[in-house]
Amino acid sequence: VSSVELTQHFLDRIQQQDSQYNSFITVCEENALADARQADELRSQGKATPWTGVPFAHKDIFCTNGVRTTCGSKMLENFVPPYDATVTANFRQAGAVCLGKTNMDEFAMGSSNESSYFGAATNPWGSNRVPGGSSGGSAAAVAARLTPAATATDTGGSIRQPAALCGITGLKPTYGRVSRYGMIAFASSLDQGGTMARTAEDNALMLNVMAGFDPRDSTSIDREVPDYTATLNEPLKGLKIGLPKEYFSDQLSPAMEQTVRNAIAEYEKLGATVKEVSLPNANLAIAAYYVIAPAEASANLSRFDGVRYGYRCDDPKDLMDLYTRTREEGFGDEVKRRIMVGTYALSAGYFDAYYLKAQKVRRLIQQDFVNALKEVDVLMSPTCPSPAFVKGEKTNDPVQMYLEDIFTIAVNLAGLPALSLPAGFVDGLPVGLQVIGDYFAEARLLNAAHQYQ
Ligand code: GLN
Repeated sequence: VSSVELTQHFLDRIQQQDSQYNSFITVCEENALADARQADELRSQGKATPWTGVPFAHKDIFCTNGVRTTCGSKMLENFVPPYDATVTANFRQAGAVCLGKTNMDEFAMGSSNESSYFGAATNPWGSNRVPGGSSGGSAAAVAARLTPAATATDTGGSIRQPAALCGITGLKPTYGRVSRYGMIAFASSLDQGGTMARTAEDNALMLNVMAGFDPRDSTSIDREVPDYTATLNEPLKGLKIGLPKEYFSDQLSPAMEQTVRNAIAEYEKLGATVKEVSLPNANLAIAAYYVIAPAEASANLSRFDGVRYGYRCDDPKDLMDLYTRTREEGFGDEVKRRIMVGTYALSAGYFDAYYLKAQKVRRLIQQDFVNALKEVDVLMSPTCPSPAFVKGEKTNDPVQMYLEDIFTIAVNLAGLPALSLPAGFVDGLPVGLQVIGDYFAEARLLNAAHQYQ
């Protein structure tokens, strides 16, 4: 098929079905078809590379030159960036066709997509179910086959949890592997861009485009990028799998635990060995994250002041009124909650008690992983404690919502790569298996997922 036909196919599906899912905030019909025509031209000249003319979607957190980028917020409802994120530029360079920008929790704060200013997205597996978050639009769009692939970001679980809840594969790379330039910042020491698609192989093809050093991101790492598809078929015989005992505790329902253990048993059939390991500080991860992430968010979000760009309140009386009303009207409840928590944790009298303490805990958590990964090659666990929950179920209880990331958040604190792959069903809803690897072990994670699939 031609790229124009393929692009039209997905645009038609979006048009016919996305009223059910609300997975896109912006659809780029004209741009997509123009890019597809250009790709077909290149193809006919024999100048195609693997991504030439292939449709995909961007989470609406990646700046796209000339295309509205909202980050799920009223604050950026009409923001049209004058530049591309590095990730966006990489896909453009590769000749890929961007179908549109996907729905997300406001500023990526959430686990259900319900904090989006543009309304919640819906999980294709159940019309009353959340798709997870914050990359819920990307996950729902891939699961509903409205796009073959989508970019996403993960600060505490936002790629892996929605991938698990929507029954697709999603990878959060090592911190520093994918450039954060032009990716709207939430918590800069935790944010990492990554991939979502049906299969591990498609994730590998995406990472081939996204990974790499970027001088415009000071935490980007200058290290060779392998071809992530090259090792997908390596046998898993001898792979050492560790099961963190803290992640198989009573928080997990028997049905969830059984499904995940069945998937792990398949790995044993493929020649892997399994042993129990321990992450003794795992129970501190949520608490440390909810000091560090809001602290960084409160600093990052101070740029939205009604002066530079984005939303501005009507008729400000003076500068103070401009600041306060712009932020009062432009941010949603969850974002305000994080800014208040973060500002408190960073204030002079409390810095040592909260922020500094959380940073020390973070180091202990990282050290736990380093120790465990001396004994085994990868760690496996459920991605999240339950399948997709019902919309509204956790919106009035932020702590319940925060617990959704209990198995994913520590990985971000440590900066490690991890993926979620579909591992079975509980109550007719998809369940994810999380695979965590050592720094820069993305190829191994993708290989492990590909062998299962
Ligand atoms: N659910 C977590 C939060 O709300 C993680 C979000 C994310 O990874 N962006 O902060």
